[in-house]
Amino acid sequence: MSVALHVHGAAGTVTGSCQRLVTPHGELLVDCGMFQGPKSLRVLNYRQFPFAASRIDAVVLTHAHIDHTGLFPKLALAGFRGKAWTTEPTRDLLHWLLPDAGAIQENDVDRLNKRNRRRAEPLVAPIYTRVDAEASLALLAATRYESWFEPIAGVRARLHNAGHILGSAFVEIEVDARPQPVRLIFSGDVGPREKALQPDPTLPTPCDVLLLESTYGNRSRARLNDGDRRALLGRLLSEGLRAGGNIIVPVFAVERTQEILDDIARLKHDGDLPPALVYLDSPLAGRATEVFRRHAHALEGPGGGPSFLTGDFRLVETVEQSKAIGRIHGGAIILAGSGMCDAGRVKYHLKDHLWRPDSTVLFVGYQAPGTLGALIRSGLPSVRIHGEEINVKARIRVIDAYSGHADRDELVDWARPTFDRLGTALLVHGEPDARTGLADALDAAGLEHGRVVSPDLDQAFDLDFRDGRWVAIPAATAAVPRLTADDATAPRDWHNDYAQLLLDLRNALQETTDDRERRSLLAEARRVIDAHRHAARPPRRSHRI
Ligand SMILES: [Zn+2]
Repeated sequence: MSVALHVHGAAGTVTGSCQRLVTPHGELLVDCGMFQGPKSLRVLNYRQFPFAASRIDAVVLTHAHIDHTGLFPKLALAGFRGKAWTTEPTRDLLHWLLPDAGAIQENDVDRLNKRNRRRAEPLVAPIYTRVDAEASLALLAATRYESWFEPIAGVRARLHNAGHILGSAFVEIEVDARPQPVRLIFSGDVGPREKALQPDPTLPTPCDVLLLESTYGNRSRARLNDGDRRALLGRLLSEGLRAGGNIIVPVFAVERTQEILDDIARLKHDGDLPPALVYLDSPLAGRATEVFRRHAHALEGPGGGPSFLTGDFRLVETVEQSKAIGRIHGGAIILAGSGMCDAGRVKYHLKDHLWRPDSTVLFVGYQAPGTLGALIRSGLPSVRIHGEEINVKARIRVIDAYSGHADRDELVDWARPTFDRLGTALLVHGEPDARTGLADALDAAGLEHGRVVSPDLDQAFDLDFRDGRWVAIPAATAAVPRLTADDATAPRDWHNDYAQLLLDLRNALQETTDDRERRSLLAEARRVIDAHRHAARPPRRSHRI
C-alpha cells in the first residue's frame, strides 16, 4: 500500500482546512477546520466527514483558529479516539475557543429552531455543543516546537513556529516508505515578517511535498515597521479622543486583541497617547489574553516581552458592566468582539455610538464582504443592527497594517528552501485568484508550474516515486462531490433527520399512557442501535489513550 493525500478543505477557499494522509501505518489528519463565510460552504459543517472518523489514528492541529480546528469536537463525536497533537499554547487557547464555538452553535440553533417551530419546519441540532467541545479537549496532546514525536508508529512529525498567532505551527511529517522515506510539510497559516508579538516564521527544511497556504498569494503589501504601525495607531486614537467621543475597535479574541493592547500599552508608556480608559469588552478575549500572559516567553517585543502584561486595561465580564460602559460619553477606547461586527457585544456599542458624530469606529482587521463591519467600512449612511435602522455619523477609520499572513513575496521566500528537493507543491487556503497569483510568483522564482497544483475539494493524490523524487499524482478515482447544485437550495441532512427522530420519539412516548409500552419502545430502539454499533465498529488497533 502506498501513501496518499486527500485535501478535505480550504481548496479554493480560505476556510475548512483539513488534509488527510493515508499511509501503510495508519491515517493522519492535519487540521480539522470549520467552513466559514457563505452558506453554501457552511452547509459542509453539518455533513458527514468524507472519511471514517474512527479510522483516523492521529490528528495534528497547526493553530487555534476555528477554520483550522472548529470541527475537531465533531470528529471526536463521530468516533475519533486518537491523540490530537499541537503546541502547548494552542492547546490552552482551544480550551476556551472550542467550548465557545459550541455555545455559539447552540445559540444559533436555538434561534433557528424558534423560527422553525413557528413555521412547523423540522428542528435542527447543533453540530456540537459546549459540552461536546469540552469532552474533546481531553484528546489534545501538547508537544514542543522542533522536537520529533510519533503520532503513528512509522510516521514521525515535528512542529515549527509559523509566526502567525500564538502557538501557530507548520508541520513536518516523515513517513517510512519505500524506496525512501517521504517528507511532507503542511504550512498551516504562515505569518508575515515584522509582525507584532510573533517572531518571524522558521524556514522549512527540504521536503518532497509541500502544502502551501496562499491567502495573500496575489498581493504584495506595503509594509509598515513596528514603530510606524504603532505611530499610526497612536495618531488615529489621539484624533478620536480629541474629537470628544469614545473609540470602538472591533477585534477578534485571539492575537489581534493582544496586538492592539500591546501597542496601546506602549503608546501610553511612551506618552504618545492622551489619558484614556481602555476596556476589553469580551470575556473570551480576556481568557485568551490570560493564555498569552502564561506563554509570554514565546512572544516577541522590544525589550524582550510584550507590554500588555503591564498595560492597564479593564476587562468587562458581565453584560451589565458592558451596558454601563455604553453610558460613558467620551474618553474611552472600547475593544469588543466580534472582529467583523456580525455578532457579540460590539453590535451594542455600535448601536450606541454610530449615530454620534464625535464617536470613532476604528477597523484594525479584515472585514469579509457582507458583514456589518464591511457595510460600515464602505461608508453607508445607515445600517441595520438588531432590526433597527441606525444612522452612521461617527468617524470611520481603518488601519491595514495589522496582518497575520505573509504576502506573496514573503510566501515565495518562505517556501524557497524546499524548491530543490520538492516534487509537488499543493496550493491551499486561498481564493482562485490568490492561488493563480502565487503559482505565477513561484514559477518566476524557480518552482515551475509543472510542480505546482491547485487541488479541488476532496481531491486525492497518490505519492509516487519517479526519477529519483516523490511526486503527488492526482488519483485516478475522482472524489464524490460533497457540494452539489441542490445543496444551496435544500440543505436537509442527517442532522435534520436526527432532530426529527428525537421529536417523534418524544411524541410517541408522550402519547403512550402505559409505562410498559414506553419501555418496550425504548428497548426496541436500543436493540437497533446496539446491533448497528456492533456491526459498524470493528475492534480497534493500537493508539488509544
Ligand atoms: Zn489562521
